Amino acid sequence: MTSVPIDALPDAVLVATADGILTALNRVALDVLGAAAADLIGRPLGEAFHVRAPGGAPTMREGWPGQEGEREVTFRRPDGTDLQVAVTARVDGDVAIVALRPSGERSGIAVISTISHELRSPLTSVKGYTSLMLSRWDRLKDEQKRTMLEQVHHDADRVTRLVTELLDISRLETGRLVLRRQLVDVPALAASVVDKVAMGVADLDCEVEFPDGFPRVYADPDKVEQVLTNLVENAAKYGSPAAMRVSGDALDGVVAVTVRDTGEGIPQGDLQRVFTKFFRRDHGRPNGTGLGLWISQGLVEAHGGVLTAESELGSGSTFRFTLPIQTFDQDGARGNDERDGDPEPIGDDAARP
Ligand code: ADP
Repeated sequence: MTSVPIDALPDAVLVATADGILTALNRVALDVLGAAAADLIGRPLGEAFHVRAPGGAPTMREGWPGQEGEREVTFRRPDGTDLQVAVTARVDGDVAIVALRPSGERSGIAVISTISHELRSPLTSVKGYTSLMLSRWDRLKDEQKRTMLEQVHHDADRVTRLVTELLDISRLETGRLVLRRQLVDVPALAASVVDKVAMGVADLDCEVEFPDGFPRVYADPDKVEQVLTNLVENAAKYGSPAAMRVSGDALDGVVAVTVRDTGEGIPQGDLQRVFTKFFRRDHGRPNGTGLGLWISQGLVEAHGGVLTAESELGSGSTFRFTLPIQTFDQDGARGNDERDGDPEPIGDDAARP
């Protein structure tokens, strides 16, 4: 068997002795860890990178723990910043080959497979219902046709939303996201989002409560709608559709919007991770790309707000975002306004003033 030099490997790879002393690192590992090989060779891996388990306890200090499978740990880089990685090790005699994958990052193939699946399921239903209607038009009752058309309409919206999300990702990552701001009536938008989500979730019971005289915010209504839809859908899908609540508070210079559910909650260890790209908690529920909250956070931050989450196991979760109450003049100073021009307007965005 020919052996491959570790520098030829596309992943970050460390080589250690079975008792955890570093003997080699490939170039990708040095890049990811921001380290110099000369400082590290001969040192225990756990100590060189202050490796910690998810609870913060030191790990990999006294030799290789010898566990199979992938494990999430935190490495500290020489510059003091932390890096969350998934590590896999293969111990062969006295040599351990350790592969690192930054958490939240997935291989290109895994990403394409998720996105293809998400696009395919609504398209399969569109194709199925339209074929059925075309072949049996005269035999179907009006009511049946209406139900099918409603489903096709709903699925077409799902595809459009996914494509919008994918475009948003590239815009957020390249700093090209452009907001088309106007005065937005957030309580009305919240009520309309809850109505739309209720069309797909028959048992949705969601109270919408905003104080009288809630200030209008100068924001992009499509983006605020996208954030609200994601939070309300998540609450119904991963929390519980019963006893949900969307509410608002007008604070000093900002408004805060809260979406609360009474579901099973999110463990503390996952609470920050839900905002990372492609993160999904593995509880076997259908559909989802793990992109929704990452994008929502990016959209809220583009407006100058923050999106945060709190959760208590057994009682439910609360997602809350703020939006600054701005005037036209103040906003003129911001860099992401429409007047900067959007190279790829989506949908009817181009027509809006
Ligand atoms: P997805 O497309 O998978 O819904 P999101 O980024 O919107 O992606 O959510 C990421 C993960 O966060 C979900 O897969 C789910 O496990 C978890 N999550 C989000 N909202 C809630 C909630 N209200 N209650 C429990 N878990 C949630």
